[in-house]
Amino acid sequence: MTLSVPQPGQLIVITGPSGVGKGTLLRQLRQRHPALAVSISATTRPPRPTETNGVDYYFVSVPDFQAMLQAGELLEWAEFAGHYYGTPREPLVRLIEQGKTVILEIELQGARQVRQSYPQARHIFILPPSMAELERRLYSRGQDTAAAIAQRLAQAETEIAAASEFDVQIVNDDLEKSLTALETAIFSSTS
Ligand code: 5GP
Repeated sequence: MTLSVPQPGQLIVITGPSGVGKGTLLRQLRQRHPALAVSISATTRPPRPTETNGVDYYFVSVPDFQAMLQAGELLEWAEFAGHYYGTPREPLVRLIEQGKTVILEIELQGARQVRQSYPQARHIFILPPSMAELERRLYSRGQDTAAAIAQRLAQAETEIAAASEFDVQIVNDDLEKSLTALETAIFSSTS
C-alpha cells in the first residue's frame, strides 16, 4: 500500500553575518540539490539592482509588513540594519507538510524565535575567516553604501558572538569545503 501522507520535512536555519557568502553557498547548494526548498522572506528593504520581487524577497512597504505581523502571518521577524525582515508562515508550513527540506536564511533574532517555536529545526552558523575578510567581501560586492556596510559590520560582531548557540558552525574559507560541510550538516539531519 502506498502512503498518501508524506513524512513531515525538515527545517534548516542558516545564519551568518551579512557578506559571509550565504547567498553564494545557497545558490550552489540548490544547484546540487534541486529538491531543497528555500523560503522567500518579506522585507521592507528596497530591492538591489540584481534582485527580483517574489524570487529573492517579497519587497513590501512598512505598513504591509506591519499588517502581516498583526495578522500572525510571520513565523519570525526582525529589524536588521534599519529594515524589517520576516518569514511568511503559510508557504513554509505547506512545504514542511509535503515532506520538503526547507531552508531559512535569516539573521540571529529570527533564528532564536524559530528555536522557540520549532525546536526540531537544525541551526547552522556560517562564519567568516576573519573580520577583515568580511569587510573586504562587503566592499567588493559593491551592493551597499559605506554607512550600510558599517552598520552590517557592527551587527556581524553581535551575530558572531552567538555562533556557539547553533548546532553546527562552518567557517566559509573555501567554497568547496564549506559546501561539503553544509551538505553534511543538512543531510545528516534528514534520514
Ligand atoms: P540582506 O539585506 O543582505 O538581504 O539581508 C540582511 C540580513 O537579513 C541577512 O542576515 C539575512 O539572513 C537576514 N534575513 C533575510 N530574510 C530574513 C527573514 O525573513 N527573517 C530574518 N529574521 N532575517 C532575515
